Amino acid sequence: MFESLAEKLEGVFKRLKGRGRLDEENVQEALKEIRMALLEADVNFKVVKDFIEDVRVRAIGQDVLESITPGQQIVKIVYDRLVELLGGTSSQLKFGNRFPAPIMLVGLQGCGKTTTSVKLARVLAKSGKRVGLVSADVYRPAAMEQLRVMGEKIGAPVIAADSKQNPVKICVDAVEESKRKGYEVLILDTAGRLHIDAEMMEELKQIKSAVNPSEILFVADAMTGQDAVNVAAKFNEMLGIDGVIMTKMDGDARGGAALSLKAVIGKPLKYVGVGEKIDAMEVFHPERMASRILGMGDILSLVEKAQTVVDEKKARELEQRIRKNEFTLGDFREQLLQIKKMGSLQDIMGMIPGFSKIKSLKQAAPDERELVKIVAIIDSMTIKERNNYLLIDGRRRKRIALGSGTSVQDVNQLLKNYAEIKKMMKRFTSKGGLKALRRGNF
Ligand code: GDP
Repeated sequence: MFESLAEKLEGVFKRLKGRGRLDEENVQEALKEIRMALLEADVNFKVVKDFIEDVRVRAIGQDVLESITPGQQIVKIVYDRLVELLGGTSSQLKFGNRFPAPIMLVGLQGCGKTTTSVKLARVLAKSGKRVGLVSADVYRPAAMEQLRVMGEKIGAPVIAADSKQNPVKICVDAVEESKRKGYEVLILDTAGRLHIDAEMMEELKQIKSAVNPSEILFVADAMTGQDAVNVAAKFNEMLGIDGVIMTKMDGDARGGAALSLKAVIGKPLKYVGVGEKIDAMEVFHPERMASRILGMGDILSLVEKAQTVVDEKKARELEQRIRKNEFTLGDFREQLLQIKKMGSLQDIMGMIPGFSKIKSLKQAAPDERELVKIVAIIDSMTIKERNNYLLIDGRRRKRIALGSGTSVQDVNQLLKNYAEIKKMMKRFTSKGGLKALRRGNF
């Protein structure tokens, strides 16, 4: 499904590969082509805009690693961003600790809901769960029959329902029956319409409040492109959904819907349907999907390795400076910027032997929002001030607060934290400190 996008991106990277170094001009050129490729793949316009801007900032702000070409480095940046766009890590279904855990499948008619209900039952049964199925689609009696036949094929029990009954009652009764029969999961296949309509939504809301599902999954047809995202957004707004299963990913849809979903509605893609057969459904893995789109696994691991080397080198240099008690506000800023990339300040300090034992560092490490503020404050300092914080008197504090759009209290707080960290480092690097550390007294 992502063939065309993958092919185009490959072309962009091939052209970059030939270059010994990258300048702003050819980064811009590559980004222009990536932008076109994403738009042609039917990715949401706003999502593409943010994606490109983000890659640009990361590409320009990054140090060039030694053992790889800048072109390879861009591949890695695009890959990382793609993984994020696809939701980061794969997300599991939640079952809670009720039996049965009701899972409600919703979506428009023809999106593949009934097929997906049975596929999901099979996947969960394979993982060892006892799964029951029920159809609440009283408007199309053929839908109930379809579920019964398909369920039978895979040996999943389908709870019989009367199409003359109210769909809410069908679901409530099915929950009761599942309890009696000891099913751990009950999959509810609900009725769809050709378009979103108020009556359908009302019915779904009633089912939701009657059975309180562990998961509401929106089934989206990949072939409908951005419409799938728009309809999912509407369902999320009106009903609230926990995730999406995207069907027909084996077709020739361009893939934009899968790439836009998480960014537009904030809900993860959990499974993908890849064929009409009952076993044609997979857990969605953002990393695997991103490397399939880029098709460059070798480059990715190469860059990852090179990055570790650089990070280790940086940690060693930092260690040297700390030992000489030269940890400046500039170093502090650099370390904070690494937090986003590498994990927390404790993790970075953790690379330095012994430092991970200093518990009080945990309180000194700021959260992400604080981090932006702190970096802004340090950016408003002169080099001299960064190298010697004792210079920063009241007048300078006022200037720095003004320059960074923060308050004098913020500047005070930062200097206090920094002074504390520095003091701790000094204690650690002094002879007594090292001894205490060896004894485990920190
Ligand atoms: P419902 O109306 O939402 O219940 O949709 P159905 O389950 O009846 O599916 C509609 C059509 O889509 C059927 O022909 C299915 O075989 C087909 N379908 C469902 N999922 C997939 C998929 O992942 N890949 C392909 N190629 N076809 C699918």
